[in-house]
Amino acid sequence: MEKGRTRVDLFEYQARDLFAKHGVPVLAGEVIDTPEAAREATERLGGKSVVKAQVKVGGRGKAGGVKLAATPDEAVARATDILGMDIKGHTVHKVMIAETAPEIAEEYYVSYLLDRTNRTFLAMASVAGGMDIEEVAATTPEKLAKVPVDANKGVDIEKARAIVAQAKFPAEVAEQVAEVLVTLWKTFIAEDALLVEVNPLAKVADGRVIALDGKVSLDANAEFRQPEHEALEDKAAANPLEAAAKAKGLNYVKLDGQVGIIGNGAGLVMSTLDVVAYAGENHGGVKPANFLDIGGGASAEVMANGLEIILGDPDVKSVFVNVFGGITACDEVAKGIVQALELLKAKGENVSKPLVVRLDGNNAELGRKILSDANHPLVQRVDTMDGAADKAAELAAK
Ligand code: GDP
Ligand code: MN
Repeated sequence: MEKGRTRVDLFEYQARDLFAKHGVPVLAGEVIDTPEAAREATERLGGKSVVKAQVKVGGRGKAGGVKLAATPDEAVARATDILGMDIKGHTVHKVMIAETAPEIAEEYYVSYLLDRTNRTFLAMASVAGGMDIEEVAATTPEKLAKVPVDANKGVDIEKARAIVAQAKFPAEVAEQVAEVLVTLWKTFIAEDALLVEVNPLAKVADGRVIALDGKVSLDANAEFRQPEHEALEDKAAANPLEAAAKAKGLNYVKLDGQVGIIGNGAGLVMSTLDVVAYAGENHGGVKPANFLDIGGGASAEVMANGLEIILGDPDVKSVFVNVFGGITACDEVAKGIVQALELLKAKGENVSKPLVVRLDGNNAELGRKILSDANHPLVQRVDTMDGAADKAAELAAK
C-alpha cells in the first residue's frame, strides 16, 4: 500500500464488476483502451453499445463522456472522441463498452457510506437520481432519505424495505429496490468499502431496476484481508515513478523529500534514510526522496536504471549513492556509476543533479580511485556515511 493512503477509489467498470459479483443487477460491459477494440466489444453486445469514459470523477454524461452507439462503427467513432478527452482535469485512458439499457423510465439513487461524524454506517436513497446527489441534498433535502445502519445488524430485506419506504419509492419498484439494497450492502461489507453508490439506479422500459453507474471506494486499511484488491489499484496514476521502477524490477518506494537515495541492501538503505533525514535538519529540513535498494550484485545497468528513476523525480535535488562493497566489490560499483552516467547521457537524459558517492567495504580504495580518475563534474566522493549524507543534504538545500 502506498504511504498515507486510506482509500482506493475505483473506476466505474471495476465497481460494476464488484456489483455483479455480489448480485447487484448491472448490464454487461467490458473495458478497452483503443478505439478499434470498441468494434468487437460492441459486436459481442449484439451490435450496439454505450461508450463510457472511465475517469474517477462524476458528471461524465454532461461532459460528453457517455455516448450511445447504434452500430460497431459508431462505437469506434465515439471511442475515438472520448479516449484522450479531458474531463474536469482527468484524461480518459479507458472506456467501458456497455450493453445499452432499454429505454430509461426513471432514475433513482442509492448508496451506503461510513458516516465518521456519527460513528455509524448510513444508507442514502432518493427517487430523484441521475443528477448530482449533492444538488438534491442542497435544494430538495426532503427527497433524500438518510437512514443509519447498525453495523451489527446490517441490511436484511426488512431493513431494506424500511429504507425504501422512507425514500418513498413507487410501489411497483419497491421490492426490486429493496433487493438491490440488500445486495449492495453485501458488496459494501464483503469488499470492505467506505462508499458504494449507484447513480442512476434506473427503472427501464421492461420494468427492471438496474445499476447503470457505480462508484466504490475501498478501505485501504483492509488490504491485508482483501488480496484481490491490489489488482484494482491504479498504480500508474497513483505514482508513475513507482510504476516505472516496478517495470524495471527495482525495489523502490517514493517518499516526499529532496535527496534521492541509492544503496545496496535493504538494511543499509534504511539507515541511509535515517542519516539523511538527520543531516537534513541542519539544511532547512531536507529529507530523503525515496527508498531504492539495488541489491547485492548490482551491475552498471541496474545502477543506470536506478539513477534514471531517481533523476527523473522532479522532487530530487541531489543524489546520495551509498554502497558497501560485498559480493559486488566497490570497483565494480564505481565503474557502474561512471558507465551509468554515460549510458544516461547517451540516451539523451538530462543529467544535471549532483551525486554524492560513498564507497566502503570490499575494494573500497580501488573504487574511490576509479571515481577520482573519472573526475565526473557532477560526482563528489565523500568517504564517510555521515559526511556524505551531510554533503547530499547541503546540495539538495541549495
Ligand atoms: P455520470 O454522468 O458520470 O454520472 O455517468 P452515468 O454513468 O451516470 O451516465 C450519465 C447518464 O447517461 C445517466 O444518468 C443516464 O441517463 C445515461 N446513461 C448511462 N448509461 C446508459 C445506457 O445504457 N443507456 C442509456 N440510454 N442511457 C444511459
Ligand atoms: Mn452517474
